[in-house]
Amino acid sequence: MRILVIEDDVAIGAALVKGLEREGYSAVLAATGALALNSLPVDFILLDLGLPDRDGLELFHQLRAVSKAPIIMVTARGAEEERIAGLDLGADDYVVKPFGFRELVARINAVLRRTGARENDTQLVQVVSGIEIDRRTHSIRTRGEEISCTPKEYGILEFLARDPGAVITRQELLDGVWGPHWFGSTKMIDVHVASLRRKLSMPDVIETVRGIGFRLVVSE
Ligand code: CA
Repeated sequence: MRILVIEDDVAIGAALVKGLEREGYSAVLAATGALALNSLPVDFILLDLGLPDRDGLELFHQLRAVSKAPIIMVTARGAEEERIAGLDLGADDYVVKPFGFRELVARINAVLRRTGARENDTQLVQVVSGIEIDRRTHSIRTRGEEISCTPKEYGILEFLARDPGAVITRQELLDGVWGPHWFGSTKMIDVHVASLRRKLSMPDVIETVRGIGFRLVVSE
């Protein structure tokens, strides 16, 4: 996983690169739009919108034209219009400066889960804890029998299975299954999860993590 950090403030950029490398990513810094375009291909892009050599949104278009990598935009505090424009253009997420490094890593991981860019996501048929998730047909099987589930139930299980064992927040599930522009209560997720548990006849396989979200429990 190679992350391109586009940031003209070299001190910030270097710190980000160092931190991301500590997290196990490979990271490369580009201080201008021109250098950024020369650094492709990459798997993920952090784009600071305030750059010296060109407009950040224009660079976003140029990157999107040649790269499928997810893009998180970095904006200055208060640049509300820029942020909204960024999301309208199809940025995967944005963070507002100043931000904490942990928050950034959490957002990168959330985008990776949502976009399915993680390596283990490429499994078209995945078996976790005795549940077979078939991404070709959007179907779920247990003990060889197909379960009749709704698209949302399938979506929730498929999303949790992208990172088995990890705690996925309700907001991540909403973003991933309902879409990032869906605004509503996260409460209804519980209703879908309860129904899914019943259909799987495995009440414990999707664990509720109180106050946070859900986790697909990995068993033999
Ligand atoms: Ca800047």
